[in-house]
Amino acid sequence: MSERLAIDGGTPVRATVLPYARQLVQDDDIAAVTAALRAPYLTTGPRVAELEAAFAARVGARHAVAVSSGTAALHAAMFAAGVGRDDEVVTTPLTFVATANAALYLGARPVFADVRAATLNLDPDRVAAALTPRTRVLAPVDFAGRPSDLTALRALARARGLVLVEDACHALGAELDGRPVGSLSDLTVFSLHAVKHVTTGEGGVVTTDDDELARRLRRFRNHGLATESADRQASGALWSEMVDLGFNYRLTDVQCALGLSQLPKLGQFLAAREAIAERYVVAFKDLPGLTLPPPAVGARHAWHIFPVLVEPAQLRVGRDTVFAALRAEGIGVTMHYVPAYWHPYYARLGYARGLCPVAEDATSRIFSLPIFPGMTGPDVEDVVTAVWKVLGHYRR
Ligand SMILES: *Cc1c(COP(=O)(O)O)cnc(C)c1O
Repeated sequence: MSERLAIDGGTPVRATVLPYARQLVQDDDIAAVTAALRAPYLTTGPRVAELEAAFAARVGARHAVAVSSGTAALHAAMFAAGVGRDDEVVTTPLTFVATANAALYLGARPVFADVRAATLNLDPDRVAAALTPRTRVLAPVDFAGRPSDLTALRALARARGLVLVEDACHALGAELDGRPVGSLSDLTVFSLHAVKHVTTGEGGVVTTDDDELARRLRRFRNHGLATESADRQASGALWSEMVDLGFNYRLTDVQCALGLSQLPKLGQFLAAREAIAERYVVAFKDLPGLTLPPPAVGARHAWHIFPVLVEPAQLRVGRDTVFAALRAEGIGVTMHYVPAYWHPYYARLGYARGLCPVAEDATSRIFSLPIFPGMTGPDVEDVVTAVWKVLGHYRR
């Protein structure tokens, strides 16, 4: 006789809900932000360039350009890549909508290629099959923090004259064949949102080795102006020429102060995430009904999320019931993602269900367990207890 589940009126594993993610802001971070608030520049000041230099060094890129969000970073990267009206951007359906939206912002068309079942990253064969004369950009997403098959995608991009824009919003600190994500694509996009590895509240970064792409990114975040205000003050110029249609996507000095304080902790944060992932893998390897993420071969996984799949053949219920039961136990499970083209806006654009069957099957079975650096040992054990309790109860 299994224990009564909280969803059926039993006692929950936790009295208060454990979130799936939470930022870790410490006293030194707060001191850094306070110092920035007392400094002469509230918005574009010296800390922007400092954060960019530190970020570029951390991911092995020549340039890092800081912007106001990961979404702005995607928009800027697609602009710098030359995406324009009626171009096509091949991307994955298993992502936050911002990846595909960035193509729409520029009048281009997102084309969704299916993922591989094991990794849930873009399948390069499906990408190759999706190319047309209008394709300009390949936009893989490093799902959960696992690097995409960048070797194959880079080869495809080179052979076809395409730009590789990697959405690495899950993957700061990840590596492929010993090289850091951020140094592997023409343009790599990161988010500094509160749930991400390192945060500025809202924020984003694009990295690139290409001087001209970096210039285009810098103009785009500042209205398309050819010079920034500090340059004009230095040169005595009265006005700046607007040469592109850009936006105000600047990140503030105050936010950069937080980022500069957080970035040196990335190693610790990654180690904490890795330790939780390793505990889950050990705890659930013999639990029927649950499929775990496979090991990352030749890569370092950054573990932004810990996605698992339910196996309906081994359970009496589906994912939705498992999900509700875990929430009732006080475990803040969440779901990444429904295919981007399932959203009503995309349906209105004419995208039909059934386009990417592997991604759609994953969507019907997937959910994410809590994983964040501030999780305590007892928090992790609560997740282990609740998952065994719920899946044990619903086992066939
Ligand atoms: C977080 C995220 C974004 C958007 O980043 P924001 O900083 O929230 O704008 C884009 N793509 C993916 C895959 C993300 O996880």
